[in-house]
Amino acid sequence: MSEKIRVTVWNEFRHEKTEEAARAIYPEGIHGAIGAFLSKNSDMEVRLAALDDPGQGLPDEILNSTDVLLWWGHMHHGEVKDELVERIRRRVYVDGMGFIALHSAHHSKPFRALVGATGNLLWGDEQKEIVWNILPSHPIAAGVPQHFTLPEEELYAEPFQIPRPDAHIFEGWYEHGYVFRTGVTFLRGAGKIFYFQPGHETCPSYHNETVQRIITNAVRWAKPADFGYKVDPGAPWVPPIA
Ligand code: ZN
Repeated sequence: MSEKIRVTVWNEFRHEKTEEAARAIYPEGIHGAIGAFLSKNSDMEVRLAALDDPGQGLPDEILNSTDVLLWWGHMHHGEVKDELVERIRRRVYVDGMGFIALHSAHHSKPFRALVGATGNLLWGDEQKEIVWNILPSHPIAAGVPQHFTLPEEELYAEPFQIPRPDAHIFEGWYEHGYVFRTGVTFLRGAGKIFYFQPGHETCPSYHNETVQRIITNAVRWAKPADFGYKVDPGAPWVPPIA
């Protein structure tokens, strides 16, 4: 691993081209907004990728030199090729690449393949959300207050069909009374996965400083661990240790 964390922010990048309301909030695209605040960190080297880029944004030379991949997708999950999903899954399981699934990426092919669940949930109209920091000792919660308010977010609510998370860090409470596991982590193979709910395309959540702090913390947490050896789940046999 190079000294800097090599971050790739992948975005479906269609809403911002076709919907004025999304373009007004994210003129450079959601990936552009996320890339802009992550790039302020001297320990990160940030690249942007989109579904319509060559190789769906993640040809081998980009994916294989990514330490942490952030993923935002919504309407076009089905266009993401299965062979790309498999290359992502192997990068996480075998090489320890971090994967951060944002908002509607709960239904993305890579998230479902990595955690092994449908990712189904209840949803509804945009409304006020209070995000509670319920695991303040976790590195992703560093510097995050006990709670913070997003004036408007799309309602995502339980039951959220995911396996039991390894850590449940943030809990969302919505104005209409619903609750949601807003920030959760999973360990899979050699890699680390974080799912984070805020980020509907017509809500300005990625401009919120606390949301930015959480995503920045998550990138540092999710970078590949320094195992000092190759984790290869395909190895058929190992000799006894003398
Ligand atoms: Zn949404």
